[in-house]
Amino acid sequence: MPELPEVEITARRIDAAVRGASVESVLAPGMNVMKTFDPPLEELAGRELTGVRRIGKMPVLEFGDLALLIHLMSAGRLRVFDRRASLKDRASRVLVRLDDGCELRLREFGTRQRAWAKLLPTDVVADDEAVATLGPAAWPSPPLDVFADAIAQPRHLHPLLRHQRDIAGIGRSWVDEILWEARLSPFKQGTELSDEEVERLHTALHVLGDAIEHYEQTIGPELPDKLPMPLKVHRREGEPCPRCGTTIEAVYFAEHQTNYCPKEQTGGRVLKDRRLSRLLK
Ligand SMILES: [Zn+2]
Repeated sequence: MPELPEVEITARRIDAAVRGASVESVLAPGMNVMKTFDPPLEELAGRELTGVRRIGKMPVLEFGDLALLIHLMSAGRLRVFDRRASLKDRASRVLVRLDDGCELRLREFGTRQRAWAKLLPTDVVADDEAVATLGPAAWPSPPLDVFADAIAQPRHLHPLLRHQRDIAGIGRSWVDEILWEARLSPFKQGTELSDEEVERLHTALHVLGDAIEHYEQTIGPELPDKLPMPLKVHRREGEPCPRCGTTIEAVYFAEHQTNYCPKEQTGGRVLKDRRLSRLLK
């Protein structure tokens, strides 16, 4: 699932690959992918792709005064291909055909179609509901007081930090890394944090910038479908904590998995596995 660091490196690499190219045509084979109809996608034909950037976890393709705002949801991927997609490719959602024969393709893996795109005048992207409702971006990190306000809520840190309306850019992978870096329990509530803990959490946001730097060093011009994420605790249950050697634990909620170091984050307590306890009832 692409989060802020993954979408940032995707936007940077695609920008480097296609900025300045002319659009031949844009197709949307995904049945429900387009959430706007006016202006129509045909308006993009003949335009220059003027830049690719990121807002929160959303890539934005700019074509002068029109912009395509994309939400990848959990299974969408954006990549440049040197040839055109077969129209039988059922993963295709949006195809931006460029005049040099390349194609910028939004694909979505799995059976559900949830990724979406909106074609908007560039100057109203910031007013779109999906953008205007975002909390402060997690990277570059907001000022400490802005961050403290954003998370001063009586909710567990794990869902709170992933809630884009409170703070934008963090998902299920990086939330574990940020909480581990800050040595805080995923089940501590935002309003229970001391000033010192808020500061620690704020400082821990640097893991997002570190991840982008890691991708800059390791990802070439061609983006792989699955980025090798430099995760230290997420999905590493059973492995030793890289800081203290304690075995990393996992706790599950529905299909969500949270990993943490019990020694450093939960005062030595191993949290009850709520999925397992439901099965045992
Ligand atoms: Zn540890």
